[in-house]
Amino acid sequence: MKERKRIYLSPPHMSGKEYMKIEEAFKSNWIAPLGPLVNEFEQVVADYAGVKRGAALSSGTAAIHLALKLIGVQKGDVVFCSTLTFVASANPILYEQATPIFIDSERETWNMCPLALEKAFVEAKRLGQKPRAVIVVHLYGQSAKMDDIVALCEAYDVPIIEDAAESLGALYKGRKSGSIGRFGVYSFNGNKIITTSGGGMLVSDDEEAIEHCRFLASQARERAMHYEHQEMGYNYRMSNLLAGVGIAQMDVLDERVEQKRRIFQRYQDALSEVEGLHFMPEYQGTKSNRWLTTLTIDHNAQISPVDIMAALEKEQIEARRVWKPLHQQPLFRDYPFYTAAKGTPESELLFETGLCLPSGTSMTDTEQDRIIDTLHDVLREKTFTSSQAARS
Ligand SMILES: *Cc1c(COP(=O)(O)O)cnc(C)c1O
Repeated sequence: MKERKRIYLSPPHMSGKEYMKIEEAFKSNWIAPLGPLVNEFEQVVADYAGVKRGAALSSGTAAIHLALKLIGVQKGDVVFCSTLTFVASANPILYEQATPIFIDSERETWNMCPLALEKAFVEAKRLGQKPRAVIVVHLYGQSAKMDDIVALCEAYDVPIIEDAAESLGALYKGRKSGSIGRFGVYSFNGNKIITTSGGGMLVSDDEEAIEHCRFLASQARERAMHYEHQEMGYNYRMSNLLAGVGIAQMDVLDERVEQKRRIFQRYQDALSEVEGLHFMPEYQGTKSNRWLTTLTIDHNAQISPVDIMAALEKEQIEARRVWKPLHQQPLFRDYPFYTAAKGTPESELLFETGLCLPSGTSMTDTEQDRIIDTLHDVLREKTFTSSQAARS
């Protein structure tokens, strides 16, 4: 039997120009977690986002952690966070021994529900708690309803950290995702829309805060002729080598967004006739980067995301389920969760019915057609039987 090449969910896609930047680092011998390429990368990303400054770090998780530190989150403080997300959005809250409170999703963006957020604010006020920060995630490249969320956070005077790890290059009403809150977080992990193999960035208009972020990320070393320390620091800086990769990747970011969107469009065109499938919507006034093409399968479709994943796996195709909500994770079992309405929370429905399809920008049309054909095969069988069953 002919071995088929495995299709991954979202593998790295180099432009080819990364080598030149790495060579630049080698030639100048800047192989340290500091150097001219780090500065350049920070400015390229900040300019792209339309904010004043960026601090290049070892990961997106480190960026979330330092954003919490800069806001002054301490032991016992409350931090609101989207529930439907990767665990990295909330782990840093635990690093600081603060209390995460999880907020449900709404159907139109899959992100933080403003009604649920308001409920959480009202209840916190009743309890005499003031949350120290709100972490809003823009899932799979789709921006949350920022107008509503910003209005609430302003009314309650709480700063926003935008976890834009998945949404670099996406737009909300013409503004770049990650540029709206007090802090924005990007990730350059290997599976993200662009990558430095591993890395992250904290961006903000608050130049002083970003300066302090760089300080904390490099062991909080004071300016002195010897090693002097007043504050506890971290080793969170990005290396100059990887910043070189990042600069070259930024050159192709807009191209990658269009490629991701085209992949989404091809899936949607090919599968729009299939009953019971719903692609992740794109909310009015926003432009998603379509990091991953994501869809839901109706509960009564007689086929589950797990069945589809198994069928794809047989064909050497990697698919993934939607994030399991954090309020359902054993790790966060003891923390509060707010939802807007009675009944099954939206985030749980999205988890149960959601599926992410391979969306690598280096995927060929032929490879994507292989995925689409496999999907047609499994779905045709199942939806046929279910509509026949409905008729009889
Ligand atoms: C990838 C990701 C992160 C973490 O980024 P790392 O660079 O891997 O630490 C945080 N939040 C979300 C939503 C992510 O998808």
